[in-house]
Order: sequence, then C-alpha cells, then structure tokens
Amino acid sequence: MTTTASTDRFLDDLAETRVEVLVIGAGPIGLETAVELRRRGREVLVVDRGPIGAQIVDFPPAIRWFSGPERIAIAGVPLETVSQEKATREEYLAYLRAVVRQFDLPIRTFESVAEIERGDRGFTIRTATRSGLSRTIHADRVVLAVGGTARHRRLGIPGEDLPHVHREVGEPHWGLGRRVLVVGGRNSAADSAIRLWRAGAQVTISYRGEGVYPRIKYWIRPELEACLRSGLIAARFGTVPTEIGPGFVRLRALHDDSIETIAVDDVLCQIGYDADGSLFEAVGCRLEGEERAVAHDPDTMETSVPGLFVAGTAVAGTQGRFTVYIENSHIHAARIAAAIAGEPVPPDPTLPELPES
Ligand SMILES: Cc1cc2nc3c(=O)[nH]c(=O)nc-3n(C[C@H](O)[C@H](O)[C@H](O)COP(=O)(O)OP(=O)(O)OC[C@H]3O[C@@H](n4cnc5c(N)ncnc54)[C@H](O)[C@@H]3O)c2cc1C
Repeated sequence: MTTTASTDRFLDDLAETRVEVLVIGAGPIGLETAVELRRRGREVLVVDRGPIGAQIVDFPPAIRWFSGPERIAIAGVPLETVSQEKATREEYLAYLRAVVRQFDLPIRTFESVAEIERGDRGFTIRTATRSGLSRTIHADRVVLAVGGTARHRRLGIPGEDLPHVHREVGEPHWGLGRRVLVVGGRNSAADSAIRLWRAGAQVTISYRGEGVYPRIKYWIRPELEACLRSGLIAARFGTVPTEIGPGFVRLRALHDDSIETIAVDDVLCQIGYDADGSLFEAVGCRLEGEERAVAHDPDTMETSVPGLFVAGTAVAGTQGRFTVYIENSHIHAARIAAAIAGEPVPPDPTLPELPES
C-alpha cells in the first residue's frame, strides 16, 4: 500500500517527541507529580500502558477505599463523595479523570514504555502503543511512577494457569452456583469471599495463617467472622494449595502435611503482587534488599541515576504488606517538582489523626 507523506504523518504524528519531563505511570501519584510539575511551569508528558488509574480499574465494582477521601485526594483537589463516606472505585476513577481535565494534563494512555536509555543529553525512551506503533520520546528528566503491583504473585504449583483460576474477582455475578476456593486471607481475599458468597457462590477460603488475618480491616472482620461461625463460608486455615486440576484442588495442612482434596469449579488467588524492577535495572538504578526497593535520595526522590526520579509505590519494590501507599506518597510529587524547579525541600505534611485506614 502506498501512503502519501501527509498520510504517514496522520498515521503517527507522535512518532518522535521531545519533552522536558516524562512521567511514566498515570496512577494517582504519577498524576499528582505531573500537576506539581505543571504548577511550576515545567513541560510534562505522562504515558501509561493502560488507562489512567489502571490499578484501580481492576478493583471490584463499588468497592470502597480503605482510606478516607481527604487522604487519597491528589494535587489539593477535594475528593467529594455522594455519601460522605469513603470513596468508591467509581467515584475515584471519575475524580482522577476530572483532575486530568482540570489541569489539562498531556497524557498518552495505552502506550507502554519498553526501554529507557540515558545519554549525554538526557533520556531516550522507547514506547509501544496498543495498536502496534513504536515511538521515541526524548526527555531531560524522567519520573518512574510505575507502582508496585505489576504481576500477581504466583503459587508456583501445577494447574495454576488453568482457565478456571482467576486473579481478580471482577464482577462477582459470575459466582452464582459455583464452588469457589479463595486462596489468601488478607483484606482483598476476605472481601472477595464475602462478595462471592453474597452473589450465590459456595465459598471456601484456604489461608496459610492459623485463623482470620490479625490486621484485617475492622469493618471487614465482623462480617467475615460471622459468615465463618455460621458456616456460610467455609475455611481451611493453616493450609496451602499444592495442585489445581479440572474440578479439584489439593490442600496441604501446614501442621502435619496431610492432603485434602476438595471439589471446586473456580479458584480465586488473592495472595498479593510482585513489582517489576526491570525498567529501573535496565537504566542502571540500584535496587536494594529482598523487596528490590529503589535506592533514592529521600529529599528529592532522585534515584542513583542522575535525572531519573521515582514516585509512589514504585519506591518500595515488592511489598509483602503495604507500607507505602497513596496516603503517604503525596509528598513524593512535591519533592520531585521542587527538586526539578530548584526549590528548597518541601516540609513533610502532617496528616490529621483519623481512625485506621
Ligand atoms: C485492593 C487495594 C486497595 C487499596 N486501598 C488503598 C487505600 O485505601 N489507600 C491507599 O493509600 N492505598 C491503597 N491501595 C494501594 C494503592 O492502590 C496504590 O498505593 C496506588 O494505586 C499507588 O499509586 P501509584 O501512582 O504509586 O501507582 P499505581 O496506581 O500502581 O500506578 C502505576 C501506573 O504505572 C503504569 N505502568 C506500569 N509499568 C508501565 C510501563 N512500563 N509503561 C507505562 N506505564 C506503566 C501502570 O499501568 C499504572 O497505571 C490499595 C491497593 C489495592 C490493590
């Protein structure tokens, strides 16, 4: 097929772009960093391999955040909720879209960063769009706000990739009349177990802990414990799955290694996430410890690679238990923007005292 020069341009007029600061990742903290940079007059571009707030898109419908709205609001824009309660997934996604539009943030969604190279005059970033275009972005500085939940953690057992093994509960409607084993015992697993039971599933939980997870959120605990006490949801505490097959799962009891085989139609694994440090490593960033946390200067968030910054949950690498989340990452945006604008280090914010979130 022949194309004219103007058609070629139409096909990809963004094939090569130059920008002062590229923010990779349009989660809450990537977006907040972009706003802070724009407020200081910096030229910014944001790219994300998915939609904005991709991680939150995967939450189950209508779920409420653990944190109060004032703690997850970004860029000083109030997050109002219809009920004055914690925001739902949908309210927060609408809020993120409104923030992007209010600040007219330049964003390219469904464009994945495959490579970052540091040269004498800044960075060269190679990306790929969902429709298969390859693009190049030149940036003086780069902020990696890629989060810490790139991959669902794996069980490492036979049968794990069978089609009836799920990683996200999604719309629980599918649970009606299904025998579902939920693997995991923390907040997401407990919430999913309750949702699936309500939707008409026969739910069993397999959790390696000896009882209900001690740090379960105080508003999930009573309902879960009541369902367990009354036998509405079954539990196999102190067990781990060793094999998944068509129609069954084998569970091993940790105290005596005995094996129980239970009949299931579906398995939902909610055992956490692993971060993907490959972009950091490829550009030469130092990663530290078992979590592969990103080495950085806490005053500026600059990594061991000059001009390359890290923001949000990406800082912490793979988190066994979340200690870095939206609530305590807002300051990353302010620190990065101040460092790039040559301003003094911003003071740490004081959060109002509130019940557990
Ligand atoms: C069920 C659940 C409930 C939670 N509840 C709370 C809560 O109540 N309060 C709280 O503070 N935190 C909570 N968190 C954690 C919170 O969701 C994260 O802290 C938050 O999303 C982190 O924001 P972020 O901007 O750092 O990263 P993310 O939101 O993870 O965003 C990273 C972005 O980077 C993009 N990306 C990754 N790799 C690339 C690439 N190579 N190229 C282009 N783009 C890329 C991703 O698509 C993604 O959009 C919860 C998490 C879960 C799973």
